[in-house]
Amino acid sequence: MTSGDDQSDLLIVGGGPAGIAAALWGKRLGLNPLLLEAGPQLGGQLLRSYNQSVDCPGFYGLVGADIAERLTTHLLREGVRFQVNALVTQADCAAKTVIVRGETAFCGRALILALGVRKRRLGVPGEREFAGRGVSSSATRDKGKYVGREVLIVGGGDGAFEEALMLDEAGARVTLAHRSGTFRARPLYRDRVLTHPRIRVLTHACLVAIEGKAVVERARLEVSPPGESPRQMTLPVAGVFLALGVTPDTALVAGQVERDADGYLATDRHGATSCPGVWACGDTTRPLLSSLSTAFGDGATAAKAAFDWLAFQKR
Ligand SMILES: Cc1cc2nc3c(=O)[nH]c(=O)nc-3n(C[C@H](O)[C@H](O)[C@H](O)COP(=O)(O)OP(=O)(O)OC[C@H]3O[C@@H](n4cnc5c(N)ncnc54)[C@H](O)[C@@H]3O)c2cc1C
Repeated sequence: MTSGDDQSDLLIVGGGPAGIAAALWGKRLGLNPLLLEAGPQLGGQLLRSYNQSVDCPGFYGLVGADIAERLTTHLLREGVRFQVNALVTQADCAAKTVIVRGETAFCGRALILALGVRKRRLGVPGEREFAGRGVSSSATRDKGKYVGREVLIVGGGDGAFEEALMLDEAGARVTLAHRSGTFRARPLYRDRVLTHPRIRVLTHACLVAIEGKAVVERARLEVSPPGESPRQMTLPVAGVFLALGVTPDTALVAGQVERDADGYLATDRHGATSCPGVWACGDTTRPLLSSLSTAFGDGATAAKAAFDWLAFQKR
């Protein structure tokens, strides 16, 4: 084990919008923060957001990658220290120490967790194997590839229904499959899809495998309407879009800070977790609104709360 750094006042894990805002404010408050990001670039979910921003003040019309680039430039201009490709594999919240890739230890006096969320996976055969070869996580990005071709969308929330409409508009032949007969999607999307003349909706239908040779060729489903025996169904499709929602990435601190039943970190209104000296911000805390604006505000608040706590410790 090596030591990666002189001790920082503030360690921040997660280089999405919340962690970036915390780092900027941490710097401004004189805490010499260090931001650690698992991926090769800063930005978090921004890096898979291909829609143009219309609701984040100051970023109108920009896609996620452009916003991420601006945020990174901002950190560089302010001289905020960050490391990418720095997956934190262990954390000791009480000691404010984290270990990157099982090798390098970083120690702080306060710790901010900005771990975000990741897309939920189904775990069926073919899902990983055909990623980028017919299995897609973004209709906004990939819709142009499926003009005149059959696609399957799996999910029952806003994301699935929005993607169904988007792919139909782009000229794909769309089937949406959902494991139950009720949908989480808002009526705004749901009614348009359920009454749509071209979109086929399969209920009580579970995707069980994605198959093909070099690329996706078909999807296998098990359809089990209530009171009926399950039947197998094979759909010839060129694309499978998995819109299954998100899940928090908090196993790292399980048993050290309080989490809710779904794994989101429990905090007070300033981001304080159940462990003194540890804050959490952004999507990992299940905000009422998962958004850039919320992540920026939460990150800034957590940094200020950490600053106040550190000042109090010095007294
Ligand atoms: C397709 C899409 C479109 C969106 N469109 C909009 C929009 O138009 N407007 C809007 O306001 N919001 C939008 N959002 C939501 C917005 O992007 C999120 O709310 C925001 O990114 C949350 O920021 P965050 O920092 O909390 O989490 P994330 O962006 O999820 O970032 C968390 C970061 O933590 C890192 N991390 C996790 N665990 C570790 C670890 N152990 N070690 C090191 N690093 C770790 C991850 O790699 C990730 O980079 C969109 C999201 C998506 C996916």
